[in-house]
Amino acid sequence: MISSLWILGDQLLVNHPGLHPESPVVLIESLERLRQRPYHKRKLTLILAAMRHYAAALRERGYSVDVRVAPDFVTGLREHMAAYGSTGLRCMAAAEYDTRARQQQLEAELHVPVELLPNNQFLVERFPPKKPPRLMEPFYREMRRHTGLLLESTGEPIGGQWNYDAENRKRYDGRTVPPLPQFEPDALTRQAMADVELHCPDALGSTAGFAMPVTRAQALAALEDFVQRRLADFGPFEDAMSSSEAVLFHSLLSPLVNIGLLEPLEMCEAAVQAYQDGLAPLASVEGFVRQVIGWREYMYYRYWEMMPGLRDVNSWNHHAPLPNWYWSGETRMRCMAHAIGRVLQDGYSHHIERLMLLCNFGLLAGIQPQELNAWFLECYVDAYEWVVTPNVLGMGLNADGGVIATKPYIASASYINKMSDYCGGCHYNPKARTGAEACPFNTLYWHFLIKHEARLRANPRFGPAVLGLKHLTAAERVAVREHTAMLLSALDDL
Ligand SMILES: Cc1cc2nc3c(=O)[nH]c(=O)nc-3n(C[C@H](O)[C@H](O)[C@H](O)COP(=O)(O)OP(=O)(O)OC[C@H]3O[C@@H](n4cnc5c(N)ncnc54)[C@H](O)[C@@H]3O)c2cc1C
Ligand code: SF4
Repeated sequence: MISSLWILGDQLLVNHPGLHPESPVVLIESLERLRQRPYHKRKLTLILAAMRHYAAALRERGYSVDVRVAPDFVTGLREHMAAYGSTGLRCMAAAEYDTRARQQQLEAELHVPVELLPNNQFLVERFPPKKPPRLMEPFYREMRRHTGLLLESTGEPIGGQWNYDAENRKRYDGRTVPPLPQFEPDALTRQAMADVELHCPDALGSTAGFAMPVTRAQALAALEDFVQRRLADFGPFEDAMSSSEAVLFHSLLSPLVNIGLLEPLEMCEAAVQAYQDGLAPLASVEGFVRQVIGWREYMYYRYWEMMPGLRDVNSWNHHAPLPNWYWSGETRMRCMAHAIGRVLQDGYSHHIERLMLLCNFGLLAGIQPQELNAWFLECYVDAYEWVVTPNVLGMGLNADGGVIATKPYIASASYINKMSDYCGGCHYNPKARTGAEACPFNTLYWHFLIKHEARLRANPRFGPAVLGLKHLTAAERVAVREHTAMLLSALDDL
């Protein structure tokens, strides 16, 4: 009996658990999946180029590999099985809900035995929490204990603290940011770029300038470059935003780990090695490890715990349409114009811009959560439902009623001004709350507090922020309400 192994485009693991010398491998370029949404062309290029390079690397290792372009996955699998005489199929469980559901139906559709292997791309699949965690922090500590990362032999955290967040909140000071490594497209990648332009004309952005890693060796080189050149400053400037530096000291490794070119544990081990070698301080290394085995794994865990209902949450009952400028970057709000412009061009902005600009505005302005979620899914090179939906609907918009993040992440211009250089030179005044020049973040922030005062006061993690309301006179509250009404009636014109 010949049993084929189907490897998905986001499961390009060098040690894929299903690989077997006797088993043909099939990778399917499904046109239906590629066109499911108008994804960013850089993301589509990354996936196609990485799949094709992965296939070539497997062939070099002696595997029989079938890369098949098909209208959809099932047609591709049928054609493959007929061509290779396969009478069975194996695949690793997909990270995303709908694809896993499709995998579970395959046996009935293909009329052959289908074996679903456990997903091994996430540590939490190996180490499920003993009891459902309420917060990320205890979840993270449990993951540290399982992996032994940054632990003394006694089981206590190295340095005596689990978390160095308090040291990691500096404004960018203009120091040199090492340029990102560029990976010149080879013939396979150039063909992938051409295919994306041909087959996905409605996709977002352009393939021009694509220089991302597409092989395992290039992904390891990108990890090494980050660890050697940017990790040391990652921690202190983790929350900083800059008009001149889009990536700052972030790793830009999410697109790679999300498709299996890197594994979460090896990323953390490389960072810990840098700490042991004296290349990076503990606060930076712990901050990075927390993002990877803390936040990333926590989001995946919550996604599977809350699906499929997570998709539809809207606890603040928000229904405003997404302003048009999310699709053009043409707004007088300087911070939003920069962040959106980068996303539309490169498919990337770093975490704080996603959270404290793009989602913060969405929550304060009452944007329909599913519309903003779709925007994130379509615009980013690292976007997959398992990571976008809990981050956007849970952490960013608090639309899940506070399950994923226990407080809404909202802020006025004073936070943005403190953490960035955006406000200098902006059309709006970061100090004003009302009036034509007032920064919209301010008006909307104070309006949000006024409107939801009772609900916010009841939240122990947010209550203190509401106390500022006592300084607002009745007339100021009226002015905030009136100015908000004006802003909300013309969101496209900001
Ligand atoms: C609204 C919103 C949308 C997001 N959308 C995505 C997305 O589409 N894809 C995606 O991979 N991440 C997403 N994130 C999480 C995080 O912003 C990105 O992983 C990170 O910005 C990727 O850039 P980086 O590799 O330079 O990250 P770094 O800052 O260098 O962090 C290191 C790694 O930690 C992981 N990480 C950090 N925070 C998170 C998190 N909250 N959730 C999951 N992983 C995390 C990533 O794998 C990242 O590569 C989103 C966060 C928010 C708030
Ligand atoms: S003033 Fe307001 S809109 Fe302008 S950059 Fe600052 S926070 Fe953004």
